[in-house]
Amino acid sequence: MAFALVLLWLLPCSLQAAPRVGQDFLLLGGATDEVTPQRACAPDVLARHQEVLSIPAPAAGWSGKPQAVDVFGVLTGEVRISHGDREICGSMHDARTRDSRFRAGVGLVVVPKAGDHEPIVVSWTRPLKPRWVPTIQLGAPSPVQQNDTARLLVRAACIAVAIALALSALMGWATTRDRSFLVYVGACIVFVLWQAVLGGLSGYPEPWLPVHDRASWWLIALTAFSQALLLPILWRLTGGDRRWPRSRPAQHLVLWGLIALGLSVPLWGLDGLSAGAAALEGSFLVVCTLCLGAGLWGLWRGDAHALPGLAALAPWWIMIGADALDARWLVAYRIEALQLSATWFLMMAAYALNLRLGRLRRQRDEMRQLADTDVLTGLPNRRAGLRLLAQYLERARQQPHALAIGFLDIDLFKDINDQFGHEVGDQVLVAVARALRGSVRNHDDVIRMGGEEFLVLLPGAGHAAAVARLETVRQQVAAVTQTLGIPGLTVSASIGLAVLQLGSDDLAGLLRRADHAMYCAKRNGRNQIHDGERTTTAGDPLPA
Ligand code: GH3
Ligand code: MG
Ligand code: MG
Repeated sequence: MAFALVLLWLLPCSLQAAPRVGQDFLLLGGATDEVTPQRACAPDVLARHQEVLSIPAPAAGWSGKPQAVDVFGVLTGEVRISHGDREICGSMHDARTRDSRFRAGVGLVVVPKAGDHEPIVVSWTRPLKPRWVPTIQLGAPSPVQQNDTARLLVRAACIAVAIALALSALMGWATTRDRSFLVYVGACIVFVLWQAVLGGLSGYPEPWLPVHDRASWWLIALTAFSQALLLPILWRLTGGDRRWPRSRPAQHLVLWGLIALGLSVPLWGLDGLSAGAAALEGSFLVVCTLCLGAGLWGLWRGDAHALPGLAALAPWWIMIGADALDARWLVAYRIEALQLSATWFLMMAAYALNLRLGRLRRQRDEMRQLADTDVLTGLPNRRAGLRLLAQYLERARQQPHALAIGFLDIDLFKDINDQFGHEVGDQVLVAVARALRGSVRNHDDVIRMGGEEFLVLLPGAGHAAAVARLETVRQQVAAVTQTLGIPGLTVSASIGLAVLQLGSDDLAGLLRRADHAMYCAKRNGRNQIHDGERTTTAGDPLPA
């Protein structure tokens, strides 16, 4: 369905005229006199900016070479960079407001005159969390730009991985209809949105999420939704769920509490948002501690299933530790670190989901195997046998070749049960099944149709070949008498033979003829093969 929609969407693009033959270029767009007014600062922008950094010129003044300034990690509000009469005001969530050379941060290249002492001034609004300070990079345009591009690539790659994982989980759901795959797809979508707002890709190349100047609201709401999905999954992955089944109500409380917190975000003022951010951080820390405890406890008790959970938890704990130590790399690359941790988590959850998928497949195969197998003899049962016979018939019709079946019924089996007991009866059934399997070729089939009745399928066999093979079968069944060696016990079978008559036979007809032939064998004295018209081969007759 989704695939068809994509094709429909691509159709108009494919109909656009290609360059004419002989024309060796394609010119897109046209000349413009458009300026980029979006980058001009609003008159009151400075009044809103509580944080101002003045980057002084070197003691001897600027060198006269271009200076690039790139500001990363201002997640809410605009950044203003100015030098003399050059200024730019850009927001993370609208790439149109930013210098096209810088995509991961808000950047500007200025060329101060040689010897000039005027500082470069950067200002921004106070961050939502005190630790989320911006990183300001200053240097020659080329290395600054390279760093900016590398950050953009990491951010985009993390989103691409989440989308790929979501699509793969969607296919998992399509084949299994297991609800966990849908929950996982939901988690991926929320994580994609969260990462898009966090890394500014929601505004690239044009804003595709209505973030505008409400980035703080979006960030807190999406953080709450992401945690609502992440924390219960982490708890499950680290085995907390299995070890403490009574934690279910607490899990639901956390899940719905976080969702309610996310939904109520539009009602809060900026102070409320800061409190919300602190609450989210606190709950995250508490649940991560519980998950770590559950995972380590599980591991100590020998539960290897806790490993993917602990692995998923590892980067979060590294970040919590680095935050506590005020690590420089975390301040500089917080967005990338958060996105990579989220990606790692999604990958570990996908791994756990695949383990589950493997278990489900194995269970399904076992169930199928059980449903098709006779418990006592281990032979295919009536259901599986009829399916096999239908396949052989179909094949014989498509590329005509011979097919014969033998319907086998153990003689006077009721007497064996009555005389020696049901247990011996069962032993006879098992021994006959083994004898049957051992007396046919590899690509012949033996089926227990029920009770003491068996069906032998002989693909490729005509009348003469079938008689020869069924005679071996009959003799091997008779040999069970010696194999079991129970005094007074004689085992033999009557076999009805039917050879497929192409054109006139269907499955029911073929079986009916074999069954009829078997009754003819019984009537004729048992322990023999009958083809419905005459006895073909016979052992010693049994008493009627
Ligand atoms: P005939 O030679 O005419 O086939 O005589 P028979 O006694 O074999 O025929 P009948 O169909 O009357 O008896 C079949 C018996 O097989 C009856 C039933 O109790 C027994 N039976 C069916 N399934 C099982 C089983 O799984 N284990 C045992 N021990 N007996 C079974
Ligand atoms: Mg019978
Ligand atoms: Mg019988």
